[in-house]
Amino acid sequence: AGESTALVYTTHGEPSQVIKLGTLQLPSLGDKSALVKMLAAPINPSDINMIQGTYAILPDLPAVGGNEGVGQVIEVGSKVKTVKVGDWVIPRDAGLGTWQTLVVLSADDLVTLPSDIPLLSAATLGVNPCTALRMLSDFEELKPGDTVIQNAANSGVGQAVIQIAAAKGVHTINVVRDRPDLSQLTDRLKVMGATHVIKEETLRRPEMKELFKFYPRPKLALNGVGGKSATELLRHLQSGGTMVTYGGMAKQPITVPSALIFKDVKVRGFWVTQWKRNHGHNDKALCSMLDELCTLIRAGKLSPPACTEVSIKDFHKALDNAMKPYISTKQVLVM
Ligand code: NDP
Repeated sequence: AGESTALVYTTHGEPSQVIKLGTLQLPSLGDKSALVKMLAAPINPSDINMIQGTYAILPDLPAVGGNEGVGQVIEVGSKVKTVKVGDWVIPRDAGLGTWQTLVVLSADDLVTLPSDIPLLSAATLGVNPCTALRMLSDFEELKPGDTVIQNAANSGVGQAVIQIAAAKGVHTINVVRDRPDLSQLTDRLKVMGATHVIKEETLRRPEMKELFKFYPRPKLALNGVGGKSATELLRHLQSGGTMVTYGGMAKQPITVPSALIFKDVKVRGFWVTQWKRNHGHNDKALCSMLDELCTLIRAGKLSPPACTEVSIKDFHKALDNAMKPYISTKQVLVM
């Protein structure tokens, strides 16, 4: 039934060493499956961790890299009702292998997106903005004027948090690592709707008190880093507030300070893959979340993260860049 050009790994290890561009024979199209032409697929930290063999779920090897991306349906099996030829689709679950030109997937593994949103929005919608929206919705009841504090504020998740919070009238205090072009990054995040952008070091300084003369202390802290950065977020929460950990970029465990005793803060976690699996048979929750995000996109309130499009053939360059610190742009493979 044809061939796919794919980024494949046969052993776990460093992505630049184990990922190879190869040709795969496509299986024949079953009556409940669809042939999808992949259009664009990002390189996310979880893709890297999956290749390294350190992620919570690992595929059987050999495997095709990539967990997220958008494709177009070009053929469907005779019993497929949920997607049709021409639809834009994204994977429902992780581990399906999106870094390839063509793929045959069960129609149940596909979710249709409207094709009137920008391609890069579609390619990056299913993971980061979904995570941001759920974390802003499911842990604390946020009202306009409330404050959220987050680290890794320039990450894909962070940029979505800034924009979705701004659309809800919620202030964000955004923590990023210091860098030579900090003012440029700060400006970029402010244009997206960030209320404040501060360096990690500032979290430990007295000027934080000044900030909280103008804004209520955060009800919600979003932690994608761990280690000291997370501990500092916890110190700034209001009594009874919640810190949600969703990532561990610093690869350091979290020390919970006395805020646990004196402020009774809640320490929670979120994993979008589990959320989607829990809602796998309840399309309503997933569809209404995607609808809400697409409405924000159409209203110009939610842009994709800063992206660099790279041809799948230049995957070495894309993988190298995806693993560099301070790069501030998501690498997106285009097929
Ligand atoms: P991006 O690739 O878009 O951004 C990576 C971010 O991590 C940047 O802000 C970068 O900052 C920061 N970073 C990199 N290394 C470090 C470090 N050593 N210490 C502190 N910060 C660092 O990431 P995503 O938004 O796609 O993902 C961010 C995190 O969230 C990842 O850990 C990912 O696995 C997780 N995630 C979890 C989800 C869930 O459901 N739980 C869903 C989506 C993502 P800098 O510019 O300073 O390098």
